[in-house]
Amino acid sequence: MILEITTFDHPALRTPGARIDQIDDSIRQLAVDMIETMREAEGLGLAAQQVGMPLQMFVLDVPQLKKRPSAMRIGGKRADFESLMPLVLLNAKVETFGRVHTESEGCLSFPELSANVSRQLSVRVKALSLDGASIEFEADGLLARAVQHELDHTQGILYIDRAVPEDRMDFADDIQRLIRPVV
Ligand SMILES: [Zn+2]
Repeated sequence: MILEITTFDHPALRTPGARIDQIDDSIRQLAVDMIETMREAEGLGLAAQQVGMPLQMFVLDVPQLKKRPSAMRIGGKRADFESLMPLVLLNAKVETFGRVHTESEGCLSFPELSANVSRQLSVRVKALSLDGASIEFEADGLLARAVQHELDHTQGILYIDRAVPEDRMDFADDIQRLIRPVV
């Protein structure tokens, strides 16, 4: 089922997600619906907050792009991440590392907008998959950026909070009022 995507000042977008202690049918159905909703909206990722559910859960569907490449390593070996998409991650813990890159980002909760956001190039992720198994991987590039963007959503942080100052100034006043700069 396609779900409605929460936008702008919807309170769910500012609500840190609860840990998922039990993966039951409602969580499995939510994952299916979030993947369907993400694909219909042509997004690279979607967090539970964006469908009104403040949970530590997000889905990703990041393709390999020539202009914005990604890489994944599992157990230190390069992995074919495209074959793992769509990826559902629960209760994710993320460490960031590597150089800081500033690149354009958008968000399905802020239609038509984009801004430059500085983020580290790489992430180390520990999470649960939908079947309760532990997933650990490292990622670089666009995939790492998508993980950081979605993890932020699950903590009530939005990309407008992290936009570089000059791009924040370009947002219309009603968007500027929603910004909560990340300390
Ligand atoms: Zn987003």
